Amino acid sequence: MGHPPQNIEGSSTVEARTPLATIVVAVDGPSGSGKSSVSRAVAQALGLRYLDTGAMYRAVTWWMLGNGVDVHDAAAVAAAADKPDIVSGTDPAGPTITVDGVDVAGPIRGPEVTAAVSAVSAVPEIRTRLVALQRAAIGEGGMVVEGRDIGTVVTPDAALKVYLTASEAARAARRNAEHNDPRTDVAATQADLARRDALDSGRVTAPLSMAADGVLVDTTEMDRDQVVAHLLGLVEDRLR
Ligand code: C5P
Repeated sequence: MGHPPQNIEGSSTVEARTPLATIVVAVDGPSGSGKSSVSRAVAQALGLRYLDTGAMYRAVTWWMLGNGVDVHDAAAVAAAADKPDIVSGTDPAGPTITVDGVDVAGPIRGPEVTAAVSAVSAVPEIRTRLVALQRAAIGEGGMVVEGRDIGTVVTPDAALKVYLTASEAARAARRNAEHNDPRTDVAATQADLARRDALDSGRVTAPLSMAADGVLVDTTEMDRDQVVAHLLGLVEDRLR
C-alpha cells in the first residue's frame, strides 16, 4: 500500500514512512460520536488491532460499584485503583473485556456504570493505571485506539490523530438507535450525553480535547460508511 517517500535529491528532510504494521491511529471524541463502530471497522479493514479504552474505564467502574467503593469519594477510588485486573482482547471482530477473569462486556454498558464512569475516570490514580495498561497494549503499534485522551496523552506520537464529533442531537439519536430501546426517549439520552461530555471535558486530568495536530471530522451529515472511508483515506495519506 502507498508509495515510497518522494526523495528530493540533496534533501535531508524526507519524512520517515510509517509502515502499516506499526501504525497507531488515535480516535478521540465525545460520547456517541460513533468512535467505537468506526474504529473497529477501520481496524478490520486494515488488519490492525483495536483497543476500546472507554471499556477499560467502564470495567474499573463496574468493579468499584460491585465492591462497595463510593465512586464519588476520590480518595477511596484512588486507594482501590490497583485492585481490579483488567484484560482487553484487541481483535476488532470481537473485542473482549474481563475484570478478574469475569467477562463484563454486557454489564459495563448498563445505566449504573454509565452514570458513574465519569467520576471514576476523573481520578488521576485510575488514569495513571489505565494509561500504563493502554501503552503496554499498544506496544509496537499496529492498532486503532479510541477514547478521550489518546492523541493528547496516551500516544501523542500516533501517526494519525482523529477527533470525531457530531452535533449533540445527532449523537443522541444514534445512541438511541444503537440501543434500540423505544422506552428511552431521545431527550433523556441527549441530556445524559451532555452531562458526561461536560464532566469529561471539564476534568483537571486529561480532559477530552483534540490534539493540536489532530484532524477534526464532523460526522453530523455523514453515515458510518462515509466516516470509515474518510478515515481510511487519512490513513492512506499517512502511509505515503
Ligand atoms: O467511550 P465510552 O463512552 O465507553 O467511555 C466511557 C467513559 O470513560 C467516558 O465518559 C469517560 O469518562 C471515560 N473515558 C476516559 N478516557 C478515555 C476513554 C473513556 O476518561 N480514554
